[in-house]
Amino acid sequence: MAKQEDQFKKVVSHAKEYGYVFQSSEIYDGLSAVYDYAQNGVELKKNIRDYWWRAMVQMHDNIVGLDAAIFMHPTTWKASGHVDAFSDPLIDNKDSKKRYRADVLVEDYVGKLDTKIEKEVKKAAKRFGESFDKAQFLETNPRVLQYKEKGAAILKRLGQSLEKEDLADVKALIEELEIACPLSGSRNWTDVKQFNLMFGTKLGASAETAMDLYLRPETAQGIFVNFLNVQKTSRMKIPFGIAQTGKAFRNEIVARQFIFRMREFEQMEMQFFVKPGTQKEWYEKWKETRLKWHMSLGMGEDNYRFHDHEKLAHYADAATDIEFKFPFGFKELEGIHSRTDFDLKAHEEFSGKKLQYFDHEENKSYVPYVVETSIGLDRMFLAIFSNALQEEALENGTTRTVLKLPAVLAPTKAAVLPLVKKDGLPEIARQIIDDLKWDFNVIYDEKDAVGRRYRRQDANGTPFCITVDHETLNDNSVTIRHRDTMEQKRVKIEALKEIIKQETDVKTWLMKM
Ligand code: ATP
Repeated sequence: MAKQEDQFKKVVSHAKEYGYVFQSSEIYDGLSAVYDYAQNGVELKKNIRDYWWRAMVQMHDNIVGLDAAIFMHPTTWKASGHVDAFSDPLIDNKDSKKRYRADVLVEDYVGKLDTKIEKEVKKAAKRFGESFDKAQFLETNPRVLQYKEKGAAILKRLGQSLEKEDLADVKALIEELEIACPLSGSRNWTDVKQFNLMFGTKLGASAETAMDLYLRPETAQGIFVNFLNVQKTSRMKIPFGIAQTGKAFRNEIVARQFIFRMREFEQMEMQFFVKPGTQKEWYEKWKETRLKWHMSLGMGEDNYRFHDHEKLAHYADAATDIEFKFPFGFKELEGIHSRTDFDLKAHEEFSGKKLQYFDHEENKSYVPYVVETSIGLDRMFLAIFSNALQEEALENGTTRTVLKLPAVLAPTKAAVLPLVKKDGLPEIARQIIDDLKWDFNVIYDEKDAVGRRYRRQDANGTPFCITVDHETLNDNSVTIRHRDTMEQKRVKIEALKEIIKQETDVKTWLMKM
């Protein structure tokens, strides 16, 4: 646990030191769970958004984009169920005065059982050596099975209690499991209460006539209310999808995990409209497609898993999370939900307008069913950043800090370094930058010895360093150094563009899907 915490602290401080993420309003001691993306962070975030957009919109001729406003008519949130049901169960510890999400306390308890299982696996792998069969071990080892059964039973009971709104039983479960406040160790809990997560604001100049609005807690509703406008103007036929990226706001009860849980964050969502009865098929298809997208970034198959929901949201008939192994354990990264016709029907009812699709093949109108894929851009950023940050032991006994970001997402693709600040080398380096900057984000760096500059670019996540030296003056060749392998090659200046393109081009990466 201490190791995990250390690793997480390193992630947070590296993000600040290298200009990725700053706390919002830091000079005023910050604002809780609100963050700013700095010069490198904004590039990484943009590249992730672009990688998602290309995979979802550009690569699918039946998916189009949308950019709906953050403010929406307040009735939207009555129809969607958010006014009545968008709340989390909270519990306070009377001694530490700290507030927690009751469901998260229980889920973290189950997470610890998972960690125990992982430990058993490691121990057994050591004991059995090469003959170790992990899958068989997980299915037969009595201790593992006991942990698994216990975890499943707890989650089932939690799911059922939340479903029935039986908050007294959620508290009873916390007490039975002897869950203590992680901060104080105290088990002196208040009752569990529901807390609505939407931020309210007002529209209008005078207090009497101002209209109460909400900041949107999800981008999805902007898609639903525009469904028919988009369908008619694009002449899309079902099945088709509408994709959107944008800010969402939630007054989260507990927001202590850096950019994992923020009060202002960005979502990348796609609502896929299908014929009623075919939703299960599409749900499976999108589960598979989205997992492939994650895999294309090469962050390790073992770092992902599906977690099917026991407790379904008020709008869903099936739901799963793609979980990622963050420095603090497996947690939700993306949700895939079969949302039925709940939202469109509710908007029909509340607006009095029809939101139906005329199916020419069937010769009838119906309200389509919806399968949604919803991923947090900031969470994806954290997944990538924390996975990429590594301390690597080198052959010469030293270590280096390297940020092995997938090259396609790296903020800067190459740094161009003149070996010395004289003899015409800086001019050549500047010329290389001028040629490359049309295609890639590149930077110039002449400060410090070249070895230190390499280390700085490693820690910054830059996939290539290009060094201009005295030989360059004779034969137009430079050294290109690869961040991950540290291999250096002598190449002609004219070849640089193609070499960088091969490793950073979106096409090369998306083709892995
Ligand atoms: P959680 O259970 O972690 O609160 P959720 O199930 O409420 O998440 P969804 O409503 O399904 O989340 O939202 C879709 C995605 O939006 C999530 O998978 C996550 O990546 C992202 N997300 C949700 N809440 C936040 C937040 N407060 N900060 C950052 N990202 C978030």
